[in-house]
Amino acid sequence: MSGIGRGAPFSGTHAYVVTSPDAEAGGKKALELACGFLCAQADSGRPCLSCPECRRVLSGFHPDVVRISRETDEKGKQKKDIRVGQIRRMAADAYVRPSQAEAKVYIIEDADSMNVSAQNAALKILEEPPAYAVFILCAESAEALLPTVRSRCVPIRLAGERPEAENALADRYIRLAAKRDEKGVCAFFGENESLDAERAAALIAGIRASLSAFVCFRKDCEGLTREDAFRLLSLCDRAGAYLRLNVGVKHVMGLLCALTI
Ligand SMILES: [Zn+2]
Repeated sequence: MSGIGRGAPFSGTHAYVVTSPDAEAGGKKALELACGFLCAQADSGRPCLSCPECRRVLSGFHPDVVRISRETDEKGKQKKDIRVGQIRRMAADAYVRPSQAEAKVYIIEDADSMNVSAQNAALKILEEPPAYAVFILCAESAEALLPTVRSRCVPIRLAGERPEAENALADRYIRLAAKRDEKGVCAFFGENESLDAERAAALIAGIRASLSAFVCFRKDCEGLTREDAFRLLSLCDRAGAYLRLNVGVKHVMGLLCALTI
């Protein structure tokens, strides 16, 4: 299907994965990328971030920018994952030409929450996108994405993405939690209670990413049940929210320690 339409308004890449531990920063970067395809300026000045097209993109009102995010249930609570139906609808929509611009940009928020069937559906459209379509996947970490999906995307890492050390720490915590090693968990949080807020947030983001990978069957962890993983995920959400409210790292680590096992 890649030959339909007026031909590509741009050459090269149709898919990007923007990773950042800070979802807001990742979302902003995705919009700026979208501006690059929809900006009214001549090529050399794109994206200008100030023309009417760019302004519509940045304010979230461009008709040719479509956002996909986790749906909410009847109680208004966000669901845990992006379902295959949502991605299939996106793929069907991608074959409808852009309404105003030369490109149509899909931004998948929390792309790391796509379950395996959703990712496989995404892979199909990433493999054979219409010439005008661009897909921007936003994620905390690319780790939770299938290697086949990742390989289709140009990676864009924002500063602050957690370094290897935090990945190793996150995995250590999950192993301790899986073994219900109370002493080990206490020691772990004791060692990490003096992290600065940024590194603590990176650590929690790392734990979330590893747990998400586990929940999606992309990672094994001996002794960890799916139930545990979901419980720890919501614990991480709480801890992350406290950090954003400027609750001290020591208190947040204490909470995680007390509620892990
Ligand atoms: Zn512009």
